[in-house]
Amino acid sequence: MVEIIAVFMLIGLIVIGILANPILVKQRHNRVKRRPFPPLWSAIIENHLPIYLQLSPDERRRLQGHIQVFLAQKQFIGCGGLQVTPEMKVTIAAVACLLLLNERGKYFPKLRSILIYPRTYFVNQTVATGNYVVEEKREARLGESWTQDQLILSWEQVEKDTGNWQDGHNVVLHEFAHQLDQEDGTANGVPILQRNSEYTVWAQVMTAEYQQLCDDIPRNVKTVMDGYGTINPAEFFAVATETFYEKPRQLRGKHPALYEQLQRYYQLDPVQWT
Ligand SMILES: [Zn+2]
Repeated sequence: MVEIIAVFMLIGLIVIGILANPILVKQRHNRVKRRPFPPLWSAIIENHLPIYLQLSPDERRRLQGHIQVFLAQKQFIGCGGLQVTPEMKVTIAAVACLLLLNERGKYFPKLRSILIYPRTYFVNQTVATGNYVVEEKREARLGESWTQDQLILSWEQVEKDTGNWQDGHNVVLHEFAHQLDQEDGTANGVPILQRNSEYTVWAQVMTAEYQQLCDDIPRNVKTVMDGYGTINPAEFFAVATETFYEKPRQLRGKHPALYEQLQRYYQLDPVQWT
């Protein structure tokens, strides 16, 4: 009996090894990318994502490939009576995959499902209000990214944010930036960088910029980034990502060092799209 279990475990390990083999994974992805991109999907993206037509032909082609892999891997679940449509899936995939143009070859590996609510949704939150005293609060949410395997979005907010690509607010960019940050197991504002040598400069620049925002917001200084980024370094990275994609010119003008770090990480220059 023990031998049979051992044989099954060995076979299981071999299968997992084969499936996780990076070369085979890449080949699988490439096969999916080679499928023709459905014209309906192109129409949805052109309709919902104004920035799409500003991308270079090469960026657009690569984005389409990533969208295909993303949609083949992720499950979408409608919540609160919402019926998930191709329009919702493709729009969310297109914005999320803008974060993958750096060709790291990973597609938010921990994420399995995207839950979509029709509009703002409410969660019951337990909040400590004193020693041994907790209160149950009902909190309104537009989106959230769980370290585990789920990400939640309000479709109303997604539509609003993708249509207005200038105000530095985008719930999809925000929540998927959290996914990138959480990929190494911790949400601390430090995603996995390409080279080990890059972490020192990243930490220096991000710490200084975070501190600057934390100083400016209480003094009512007009800032390029939203004050939500002062909550903690993880929120700072998510808000900085939204700003980088939606207000690149202002961010580069006022915070060149921060822009440079994000440009290096995302391997693109959104100023070209404006
Ligand atoms: Zn956040």
